Amino acid sequence: MSFASLGLIDQITRTLAALHYHTPTAVQAQAIPAVLAGRDVMAAAQTGTGKTAGFTLPLLQRLVMDGGQVASNSVRALVLVPTRELAEQVHESVRAYGAGLPLRTMVAYGGVSINPQMMRLRKGVDLMVATPGRLLDLQRQNAVRFDRVQALVLDEADRMLDLGFSRDIDKLMALLPDKRQTLLFSATFSDPIRALAGKLLHDPVNIEATPRNTTVRAIRQWIVPVDKKRKPELFLHLLARHGWGQVLAFVKTRKGVDELVGLLDAKGLASDAIHGDKPQPARLRALERFKAGEVRILVATDVAARGLDIDELPVVVNVDLPIVAEDYVHRTGRTGRAGASGEAVSLVCADEVQLLAAIEALTGQVLPRQEEAGFEAEHRVPQTNAGGQVVKKPKKPKKSKQEKARADAPVVQEDVRFRR
Ligand code: AMP
Repeated sequence: MSFASLGLIDQITRTLAALHYHTPTAVQAQAIPAVLAGRDVMAAAQTGTGKTAGFTLPLLQRLVMDGGQVASNSVRALVLVPTRELAEQVHESVRAYGAGLPLRTMVAYGGVSINPQMMRLRKGVDLMVATPGRLLDLQRQNAVRFDRVQALVLDEADRMLDLGFSRDIDKLMALLPDKRQTLLFSATFSDPIRALAGKLLHDPVNIEATPRNTTVRAIRQWIVPVDKKRKPELFLHLLARHGWGQVLAFVKTRKGVDELVGLLDAKGLASDAIHGDKPQPARLRALERFKAGEVRILVATDVAARGLDIDELPVVVNVDLPIVAEDYVHRTGRTGRAGASGEAVSLVCADEVQLLAAIEALTGQVLPRQEEAGFEAEHRVPQTNAGGQVVKKPKKPKKSKQEKARADAPVVQEDVRFRR
């Protein structure tokens, strides 16, 4: 199958050939014709399977074919994403896929000056990639109008519709024209989110390019049981033992991220950090340095879990398990992208067994355990089963009253009685 056979115009297929995209991926093969036909789409596709091109290519084509000058401060297509890093990355893809097309595109997110974004909007924009908070700021300042929006994409849709974003998304929905094309793309869709999403869509094409909530099969996954306080030490040990090149490590808290980076620095290992307390330029710089191979270990909170496309990243280490099971799928999806293989190892302590069980239930697998010699957990991590449950230790059979009375009687009394 070729991109041309999906209905894409020459200008776009030539760009794809230059990017060495020869065949459409599964999600692209299904999404491109549906979007070109103007249908609403709900697509579940594993991360790294080319979903960005799946919605961007046909949207760009529709914008070109519809033609016309975009009115000032207006936007014709909106792509909403949950994080600033993802906004940058998706916009880079938009620019690459739209090379040579007569379209104006832009990216807008918070944490940087709003003025250049307002300036860019003055002449109108065909396709805008944005995070919801900054988009609302721009709207409040009358820098952007939504009456010409003809297409809306929610990338990482389940995240965009969950509690953290739902207020902003509700506000935006109320401002957008009812008559529009809506596209929802995500690697994971929980059932409540699926129901909510259904309300935003009109007669959607449902695409399940891969089974729901699964992790990529080419990623070898395992856990190492360990005591909580020994995790940093075990991380250093695994780095040395496996001789991993680049590693993306996920840690639960911002403080935890900084502590691990401090430890790596002290050992002379090139590392950097991404978390919500860091100014945006520093976050982007850390990611760029990691992508360029200048940094061996990038330590991050879940702000880096979704969507980030890092070429040939071989290993993801969950130093802490994610609180939300779906984030496990997103984190591991940073490796094994575009058909490559990868490894994802999780350091799991006894406190985290419920999180482990939830991940296993979601992904339908029991993660193999591999003890690391010298790091065996003193606080045993209970076994889990295929149903995502923690296997309780079998209870001792109950004693009868007489047996209990006998057992409870102090030994010393027995002795006394015996002597009589
Ligand atoms: P995404 O899932 O959109 O983040 O894309 C994952 C990676 O696959 C990116 O590095 C894309 O450049 C690459 N990619 C997307 N579509 C194709 C394709 N049809 N052929 C080859 N590579 C692709």
